[in-house]
Amino acid sequence: MKKTSLQFLWTHSSKGKCINKELEAIMLGEDIDNRGPCGLFIETVEQAPIAISITDKKASILYVNEEFTLVTGYNPADILGQNESLLSDKSTPRHVYHDLWRTISSKKVWHGRLVNRHKSGHRYLADLTITPMLNSEKQITHYIGMHRDVTAAYESEKKVHNQKLLIESVLNSSPIAMVVLDDQDRVILDNQLYKALVTDLNKGEPALFFLKLLRDEMGDLWQQLQLAEQGFNNREFRVETRGQGVRWFSCAGNWFVEKEINADAFFEDNSKRYLILTLTDITKQRRQMEELHIQTLKTMMVEDERVRGIRETLLGAMHQIQMPMNQIKAAEQIIRHKGDAQHDGLLQILRQIQASGEEAVAMMKKCIPQIYQAAVVPVNLNKVLHEMMMLSESRFQSHDIEVHWQPMQALPTILGSENRLRILFKQLIDNAIEAMVQSDCPEQRLRITTDSDADLAYVIVEDTGPGIPVGKRAKVFEPFYTTRPMGGNQAGMGLVMVKEIINQHQGLIEIDPNYHQGCRFIISFPMRRVSA
Ligand code: FAD
Repeated sequence: MKKTSLQFLWTHSSKGKCINKELEAIMLGEDIDNRGPCGLFIETVEQAPIAISITDKKASILYVNEEFTLVTGYNPADILGQNESLLSDKSTPRHVYHDLWRTISSKKVWHGRLVNRHKSGHRYLADLTITPMLNSEKQITHYIGMHRDVTAAYESEKKVHNQKLLIESVLNSSPIAMVVLDDQDRVILDNQLYKALVTDLNKGEPALFFLKLLRDEMGDLWQQLQLAEQGFNNREFRVETRGQGVRWFSCAGNWFVEKEINADAFFEDNSKRYLILTLTDITKQRRQMEELHIQTLKTMMVEDERVRGIRETLLGAMHQIQMPMNQIKAAEQIIRHKGDAQHDGLLQILRQIQASGEEAVAMMKKCIPQIYQAAVVPVNLNKVLHEMMMLSESRFQSHDIEVHWQPMQALPTILGSENRLRILFKQLIDNAIEAMVQSDCPEQRLRITTDSDADLAYVIVEDTGPGIPVGKRAKVFEPFYTTRPMGGNQAGMGLVMVKEIINQHQGLIEIDPNYHQGCRFIISFPMRRVSA
């Protein structure tokens, strides 16, 4: 039988010294287990699907198998007697070789990747394991090298890695916070903006915080969309943060199903559902919208104030004219009653004065501008009050007034006119500011609270001004009565209008008799449980 190069190597290099007796027998082709001649081991190495080479201690090649020729392009005739460095592309860094030799010289197995050059000239990546062979004295006699061309695997590995980097850089450059969650709500992937939310919002894991809000808001719909793998978007939430005040986020989500890639799923079609959650910070847009809204309200309120000014001036003038008119009327009646002909001339003059006075009053009445009744809708008192506070913000700041806003969460709506209620609260806020500014009180504080019980919604407006003396509390709701010096075009009519608007809403207003640090108005409205 023709000797293989392995048998040749054995008989010519090791001279009968072998790692163990069994291997020695196999090498020599002896029958060790009565199954016939054992060239089996040699054939196994020859045909192994991995490039195998055996070298002496200086890496001079003594044996190569068939796969080695396939991987490197070199036939045994080309390479036997050559150093393994023939395979080197010379682009592997020196320190790799130092490490390789330090490891194998100390009788350990080395495993790593080297850049090799195929006989035809092209480079390939070799995944190489070198094992030292020891004799019975534990001395290195040979090295066995086993390598595979892993260029293709490396390329696809790199491709996946590059794709991951690309996805990460796209995600990180996105102006939207993104997070991928598994079916246990665990964060699988996120971007820089999402990471920033962890500290910015101070709500623990932001995804869990938003998931709770979304599930609470969407109820059963959440489950339905999840099962149907249908996304959602434009779910807006207001978030109170510690350092940055109120922020607004618009949430969108999309579910996707991914086939499992672990060994468990090799023969089974396992899949997992993931949610991509995007969180867009819309605080800026919200603020702009809010500012625009406030600006519109300001314009409306100015116009309303102008109309009210005209109304009150005319009503005031009519009120002023009415007194002398009544006196003239009384005088005319007395004279007429006496029936004295000598006063006929005076009687005529008085009648003329009366007629022109009535004409003037009628004219004024005609000139009184109309206040149109606004539509009655469900009104969120918290929203209206918040708007009116925003409208007065610059005044609060310029007078250094501390504002305490304590809205009741989920205050039920009342039925009414938003605009009329705005005017009402604006008036109360303006009154409170004026009272505090004029009184020089050491602590200027405005507190607005909303609350409700089974039937009524309450708004409490309290200030730290001088308050209204007990004796004057009923009078302040009368026309043209003011605790302040007269002046301006609405003197003494503010609380009249407040009362009128409250009456229109079937509500009540009272001044809290038990509050002594300033003035506290308690307003109550009947609640219509239209919507929460
Ligand atoms: P070299 O001068 O050969 O080696 C670089 C450094 O390695 C030297 O500075 C020295 O510190 C150290 N070194 C070299 N020879 C020895 C030694 N006998 N004892 C201690 N330290 C030493 N290289 C490849 O590029 N591709 C392969 O596929 C490959 N397969 C190998 C398989 C086996 C079984 C063995 C033992 C080595 C293999 N090598 C392989 C390593 C190869 O022998 C060379 O060391 C390497 O290619 C660098 O060659 P070089 O001519 O650039 O430098």
